[in-house]
Amino acid sequence: MPVADKIAGFIAKSSWIRKMFEEGEKLRKEYGADKVYDFTLGNPDVEPPAAFQDEFLKLAKQPVPGMHRYMNNAGYPETRNAVARMLAAASDLPVQGSQVVMTCGAGGALNVVLKTILNPGDEVILLTPFFVEYRFYIDNHGGVPVEVWTDRETFQLDIPAIAAAVTDRTRAIIICSPNNPTGVIYPAESLKALGEMVAAKEAELGRQILVISDEPYARIAYDGKSVPNIFRYVQNSVIVTSHSKDLALPGERIGYLAASPNMNNVDQFMEGAVFSNRVLGFVNAPALMQRLVAGLQHVSVDIEAYRVKRDLLYNALTGMGFSMVKPDGAFYLFPKSPLADDVEFVKMAQKHRILLVPGAGFGAPGFFRIAYCVDQGMIERSIPAWRELAKEAGL
Ligand code: PLP
Repeated sequence: MPVADKIAGFIAKSSWIRKMFEEGEKLRKEYGADKVYDFTLGNPDVEPPAAFQDEFLKLAKQPVPGMHRYMNNAGYPETRNAVARMLAAASDLPVQGSQVVMTCGAGGALNVVLKTILNPGDEVILLTPFFVEYRFYIDNHGGVPVEVWTDRETFQLDIPAIAAAVTDRTRAIIICSPNNPTGVIYPAESLKALGEMVAAKEAELGRQILVISDEPYARIAYDGKSVPNIFRYVQNSVIVTSHSKDLALPGERIGYLAASPNMNNVDQFMEGAVFSNRVLGFVNAPALMQRLVAGLQHVSVDIEAYRVKRDLLYNALTGMGFSMVKPDGAFYLFPKSPLADDVEFVKMAQKHRILLVPGAGFGAPGFFRIAYCVDQGMIERSIPAWRELAKEAGL
């Protein structure tokens, strides 16, 4: 059965991570797993926190009757209320459980939001570099991605550039902080400026524009930094997130979307979101996971272990001459490619058994991404190979 032309084209264009994964398998067979330095996947190498395991065992020993049944498409009220309480404390706004829908991960939440708001041809602004799935998610719902670069030196928001890209077809702007792939956090002043710009454009165009804050890395922040709550700064905003990274549960597909209580027509939006969660075929987020994460809204994996890995690689690579922004959060580095062609550089790295993703995979040629959510021993073993690579690349 042939696949649709569009899907065939998308597969061809988005195969970077898959190509790198296959290359890694080949190299591991040839040289042994401990001699291949795979920095391609954002798949946390750590186990979920002990508090998660405790909840899991408690539930297994004392099952709740009916716990595997269907529920309201939005999720269990206890879980939605727990999320709402956490967000109310973070935003100082009266977030209600009715403004939360539990979803199949952040990816599920993004699809639910986009399905809820997009008419065919509506534009969604993406900030380059970006998580590449955004392009496909927007296409899923008939939208058109519009790519706007962040500041090329700092990767911070370029508000005038975003403003210039807003048209009478713009329906949403997706931001991600801490960012995949750059690790930067947008400070409160930037979010405030974004909120003011969007409000001015909404007034000018007579059209609502939703700021979608994709924050699965929100609890992974270093050096005392934290992610400012978007509800404080942008009236029409929604948070999409998950416990894939902060509780290291990516395979369990548990996340949520939460609308700002200040959003215009928030009840209508929520009704649309609950319907979309249902008809996208998700029906509801996994029941067991909803019960487990309800009490873990302030818990996370060991962030300090990620900071140690960040510092180890950042210090080693900058010492060799690589140039990059020091990330404030998430678990990625996004250095400049020493070769003009980032794909050529990634191929060069493969010869040293270092696996990376080219910036082109994030809409940002000229850079490359390192995912350091890997074993610290592997990072340490990789340093001599990085040194050889730096030499070959002329650093
Ligand atoms: N958004 C960003 C920025 C991500 O990096 C990821 C996963 O890597 C997702 C969304 C999807 O997360 P989930 O696994 O919760 O669907």
